[in-house]
Amino acid sequence: MTSFGTFFLPGPTEVRADVLQSMTQPMIAHRGAAFESLFSELQTGLRELFRTTRPVYVSSSSATGLMEGAIRNAPAGPILSLVNGAFAERFADIARSCDREVRVLRVADGDIVSVAAVAQALAERWYAAVTVVHSETSTGALSDIAAVARAAHAHGAMILVDSVTGVGGAPVLTDAWDLDFIFTGSQKALALPPGLAFAVASERYLLQADSLSNRGRYFDVVEFEKAARKHQTPNTPAVSLLYATQVQLRAMLAEGIDARWARHEAMRVATERWAMERTAEGLLTGIAAAPGVRSPTVTALQLPARLRDSDVVPALARRGFTIGTGYGALVGSTVRVGHMGDHTVRGLAQCLDALTDTLKDALRTVS
Ligand SMILES: *Cc1c(COP(=O)(O)O)cnc(C)c1O
Repeated sequence: MTSFGTFFLPGPTEVRADVLQSMTQPMIAHRGAAFESLFSELQTGLRELFRTTRPVYVSSSSATGLMEGAIRNAPAGPILSLVNGAFAERFADIARSCDREVRVLRVADGDIVSVAAVAQALAERWYAAVTVVHSETSTGALSDIAAVARAAHAHGAMILVDSVTGVGGAPVLTDAWDLDFIFTGSQKALALPPGLAFAVASERYLLQADSLSNRGRYFDVVEFEKAARKHQTPNTPAVSLLYATQVQLRAMLAEGIDARWARHEAMRVATERWAMERTAEGLLTGIAAAPGVRSPTVTALQLPARLRDSDVVPALARRGFTIGTGYGALVGSTVRVGHMGDHTVRGLAQCLDALTDTLKDALRTVS
């Protein structure tokens, strides 16, 4: 574990050595008792993680696969997409690429679409579903998905949630918030290698999906549901990644999901405090996400006009820490710290100290 605690990319995130090691176990048949018992154990952990009594689908794909699945399985009709960054834009693009009529409610990067604006749009016209990104990884803004879900349901729309940098880091109460489709990816706050995605579908979403004729095959929720009832996946899963998930879920349950959320919130607060101090010193110009809507898993830091992300990220890497460049519209002008997964406030402080020194050096060099 010598290298642990230096990789602060907002996905993929650092993976513990014991999790990596678990993937060297021999293969098992994916139709058989050993697999079914593995799958059942994963279900217990994943249900606790998503706070649901529904099955949690395990998809051998990246998260974008389930973004497409969310749309393919959604009821026929127009889609209302809340767009506040690059990943939210991707959700809307995928809906268009699936031949959906899409209305976009857009706000500036760093903000979130207000629930009042959502309610107003839904009152003007009926939509089959609303798409929302819980934690917008390009800006670090956190949307109130519980409130958006209430607004959607009040107007007869389903709620489709990208919680790729939410689940496992930010509180998610799938059943209590009555979410119709929520998905995440393995390589973000779950601190697993890339390659798996997880989702929960509400019963009402599943029931209507069954009557759709063009929902495709690989991401068909009806197939996922049928297979899950037999403790299986619809097709050959990435078995090695399931081993990794088993080890990681055991660790997560030992920590406790609430404690995990609290640890992420503490990392958010630490990053925010550090960034405010560096802003006062002129090393930064602020945080991209508006106060009060900052994600517990990722912070996009605004650089002084004289600096680009490419002046900072490689220089920090030479000090031993990896963070992300800007993304989408914020490429160049921001750097992103992924404070998620198994990272701690203590490990994060070392990365932020190195970033302070890197910013000082970089500003000296360019001036
Ligand atoms: C990383 C990410 C995705 C895309 O996930 P892939 O696993 O690369 O397909 C989608 N949405 C958000 C918010 C993300 O952070």
